[in-house]
Amino acid sequence: MQFRDLAKQYQILKADIDKAMSDVASQAHYIMGPQVKELEQQLAEYVGVKHCLTCANGTDALTLALKAWGIGEGDAVFVPDFTFFASAEVVALEGATPIFVDVDDVTFNIDVKSLEFAIQQTLAEGKLTPKVVVAVDLFGLPANYPAVRAVAEKYSLLILEDGAQGFGGSINGQKSCSFGDISTTSFFPAKPLGCYGDGGAVFTDNDEWATLIESYRVHGKGTDKYDNVRIGINSRLDTLQAAILQVKLRAFDDEVERVNEVARAYTRTLNKYVKTPVIPEGYRSSWAQYTIQLPDEATRNNLQSALKAAGIPSMVYYPKTMHDQTAFNNCQSSNINYQSYSAARLCRTVLSLPMHPYMSLSEIEFICSSLIASV
Ligand SMILES: *Cc1c(COP(=O)(O)O)cnc(C)c1O
Repeated sequence: MQFRDLAKQYQILKADIDKAMSDVASQAHYIMGPQVKELEQQLAEYVGVKHCLTCANGTDALTLALKAWGIGEGDAVFVPDFTFFASAEVVALEGATPIFVDVDDVTFNIDVKSLEFAIQQTLAEGKLTPKVVVAVDLFGLPANYPAVRAVAEKYSLLILEDGAQGFGGSINGQKSCSFGDISTTSFFPAKPLGCYGDGGAVFTDNDEWATLIESYRVHGKGTDKYDNVRIGINSRLDTLQAAILQVKLRAFDDEVERVNEVARAYTRTLNKYVKTPVIPEGYRSSWAQYTIQLPDEATRNNLQSALKAAGIPSMVYYPKTMHDQTAFNNCQSSNINYQSYSAARLCRTVLSLPMHPYMSLSEIEFICSSLIASV
């Protein structure tokens, strides 16, 4: 059994993907071919924002957003303590300081009370200027944007939506990657909308930021690529990946529906035995992960071993909080009792089960019965 069966998905879309790949090979516009612009228009329309700019990966997408805003030394950027490393890494790479914020233990997403506390602490200390909040759509579920927006407006912060795992989710019909002042996603193969290598995209309604990002992603180009007006990076999406994504985008709504069916089947069977994920009213997840919570670390680890023995892969996303990462040793705040954090507890108690659009009912039943026998 696969944790995320990408080969099965390829078999289902094979005819169209093979044609798209061979078209790119014969047309030979391997960089910035016409499929890239087409895809950007389709993605912008799908999400419901004015601009989509693709790039080399989801990490660069975050970096491009911070560069467009001129974030750097002396700036505080608030990031959830429970996320993939890249959400905070990009902040430090730009020379700014990530401030880690606890998460809600039901949704796994940034906790707005902790956010406001962290902003007030930062202002009271007076060393850094609060500039941005990175809200992550963890495991496919959009963050609580109405509440995040209210805090961001109160303190004049920009919202950067890290939708690397969130593409395809929504709140009351509004799509993920439209909630930030700038939003980003990743097309890493295992993400909800994945390509066959690395890829990413930036979304915004703001014309000025879109123009800056277009420049930053191609060596800070001015009127053309040999006129360089700022220091940028080289971060483009290959035409081949764009062509594959065009095919996958056509199948995507059906896949989001399917993962929601898988999630409903899991939850129906498992919620009497373990803490299953909760989707707030009006929210829709694209189920990058289906993550349960166990009472303690030993129970979690024993369950993972038992599942492994039955041939069922499972993953711990994430085993370490951001503030515990060696690379962030200097970013910890002495005013915060991290041990009382939900994020720290989640690292000890979460377990993600196999999840993808093409799971069979018999696979789901086998996973559930193996799990129930071991808890
Ligand atoms: C995967 C991921 C990223 C980075 O995306 P890449 O395409 O791998 O660079 C950033 N943030 C989150 C939350 C992610 O899950």
